[in-house]
Amino acid sequence: MIGKIQVGCSYPFSRFAPNRTQFENAVTEFKSHGLNSIELLFLGCVLGIPKPGPLLYYPTIDQTTSISKLLSGFSVSIHGPYTISLTATEKRQKQTTKAHLTMNLKLGHAVGATHLTFHVGTRKHQGEGKLVKGFLKEIVAEKEKKGYKLRLAPEVAGKLRSFAGFQKIVEVAHECGTLLCWDFSHDFARGGEVTTEAGILKRLELIDNNIDLKEDRLPIHLSGMVGGRWGEVSHTFLERGSGVPWRLFLTVLREQGWLERIQIICESKGKGASGIEERIKDALKIKKFIESGESVKVYQPSKSRLDAHF
Ligand SMILES: [Zn+2]
Repeated sequence: MIGKIQVGCSYPFSRFAPNRTQFENAVTEFKSHGLNSIELLFLGCVLGIPKPGPLLYYPTIDQTTSISKLLSGFSVSIHGPYTISLTATEKRQKQTTKAHLTMNLKLGHAVGATHLTFHVGTRKHQGEGKLVKGFLKEIVAEKEKKGYKLRLAPEVAGKLRSFAGFQKIVEVAHECGTLLCWDFSHDFARGGEVTTEAGILKRLELIDNNIDLKEDRLPIHLSGMVGGRWGEVSHTFLERGSGVPWRLFLTVLREQGWLERIQIICESKGKGASGIEERIKDALKIKKFIESGESVKVYQPSKSRLDAHF
C-alpha cells in the first residue's frame, strides 16, 4: 500500500489565457481524474505593459491570488520562462533574469506554490558553475529577505549545450541550499545513467547525501522524449520517442519508498499547441502504473527508438 502520491501536469498560464472559465474547467477535470498537482507554466511570459499582440503577459497578483482558492488541495508549482539565464554575463541579460525570477517568486508566493522550477541557461563559457552558484545564492538571499516560502528548483537540462546534467545540478542545489527539479526524461536524453536500477539508485543516493528536502518533496518531471546526438530534441508522449525508462524509474522509486517524497509533473506534449488533454492521459498512465503495483526492473526500449533519431 502506498501513501499519498502527488501526480499532475504542467499547465500554461498567462494573463489572458486560459480565461477564468477555462481554468475552472481544467481544475475540475484534474480533480475528476484524481490528479492533485499542477505546475503553472509562465514559459513565454514577457515583462512590460500589456499591449495587443501575440505576446504573453504574466498574470496579475490578484488573478494569481484568486486562483489559489481554486487550487486548494493541490500541490502547486511554477515553471519560469526560458528568458531566465543564470549563465548570463551581459549586464542587461542578468537584469532581465533577475526581474523574471523576482516576478515568478512573487506570483508563486501569491498562489501558494511549493517551488519555482526554471532552466538554468545555456553553456557558453568555462567556469559557468561558479557564475551560476553566485547568481543563485543572490536570488535565494533576496527571496528570503522578502519572506517568500517557495523554494527554487533549477532543472536538469535535456540539451547537452544547456547547463547542466544531473550531478552538476545536484552540486549547485547543494551549495545554494535549493531544491532541484529532476527532469528524468531530460536526464535520459543527455545520456544520464538512468536505464538501469543501479544507475537510478546512485542518483537517489546523491540526492539523499546532498539535498536537504526539509518539509518539501523533490520535484520530478516526466514525459516522452525524442533524443538525438546533442541530447533532447523535443518532448513527446510516454510511449513515443526514444523510450524513456519511466516504468523502471517508478518501480525503483516505489521499492525505495520515494513515492511519498516526490511531486511528479507530466510534461508530455505533441507538436504544436500544448494539447493538455493528451498530457492528462499520460499523467494518468503514470498514476495508474504507480497504483497498479506492477514492477518493471529491466529497461525495454521502445521499437521507435532508432526512428526517433532521424
Ligand atoms: Zn522539465
